[in-house]
Parts: sequence; structure tokens; C-alpha cells
Amino acid sequence: MGEHLSKTAPLEPLSVSDSPERKFGEFLEIRGEKLTEPRRVLVRHIFDAHKHFDADELAAELQAAGRRVSRATIYRTLRLLVDAGLLRELRLTNRTAYEHDYGYPSHDHLHCSRCNKIVEFRDDSIRRICDQISRDNGFRATGRRLVIEGVCAECSKARPPKRMLDLI
Ligand SMILES: [Zn+2]
Ligand SMILES: [Zn+2]
Repeated sequence: MGEHLSKTAPLEPLSVSDSPERKFGEFLEIRGEKLTEPRRVLVRHIFDAHKHFDADELAAELQAAGRRVSRATIYRTLRLLVDAGLLRELRLTNRTAYEHDYGYPSHDHLHCSRCNKIVEFRDDSIRRICDQISRDNGFRATGRRLVIEGVCAECSKARPPKRMLDLI
């Protein structure tokens, strides 16, 4: 299960005044919904530690912790947490992962298509370029999705790419 933070740029969580649980409760209230016990369990579990996870990994962790939350509730709550701005969805080539958005600085990712490792990085020059492009187009940017897909250093070493000759 993959928590692989970049060694060069560890990201520090931001300090926030409201707990994710409280934020989520307010969001649900506006929509006329309730922070049910399974939803509370999920928010607490998810916001315990920052990492990238998918629905399957979350379900496995909850099961291992002896918490009974149905698949349907997990999927629906993840959706709601994204809509509430608490979680960010990362669409990768072979899966959809989630991570904290609330209380965590904006950043981008590298994704290894062999071992599924996700590496976070933060580079101000990317932000500056995106700001400039937005300004040039009279666009008010609210976010961006940048994932560099490829093969990580360890996987490149472990399995050298097929030689072109083999493919002929
Ligand atoms: Zn890899
Ligand atoms: Zn991340």
C-alpha cells in the first residue's frame, strides 16, 4: 500500500481551524444530509494520516481494523468528501486514488505504472506557468490535475525495457 513521499520535498500539513469531521458535518447539513456513524468512522480513519489510497485499500484497512462499513457507503462517502473539498481525486491510468485536499498544501504527482508508487512533489515554477496561462486566457483557475505517468527508478533498474529487436 503506497505512501511514498518525495525525499527532496516533504510536504507539511497546513494548520486548519476546523476539523475535517466538522467541515464534513457542515457540508452535509447544507445538503440536508446527516453525518451518520459510518461516515464519521470513515472521515476519522481517512484523516488520521496523509496518504494516497483507493477505495479497495480503504475497505481492506477498515476491515483489518475491525470496522464494518459497506462498500456502497465507502464509495458514496468518498464522492461526498471530494464534493465537500476535503479529498482530492487523482485519476491515474489504472485506478482512481484519493488524498487529503483540506489541510494539505497543493502539489503534483509522479505515478509509476509498474509498481503503482505515487510520488508527491511541489514546484513553484509549475504554479507560475499555470497562473500565466490562466491569465493569458482570461481564466480564473480553481485547480489543476497534473500526473506524470511513467516508470520509477527502482522499476527501471529491476526490469530493463524490452529491446526493440524483441518486438520485431
Ligand atoms: Zn515503480
Ligand atoms: Zn499527493
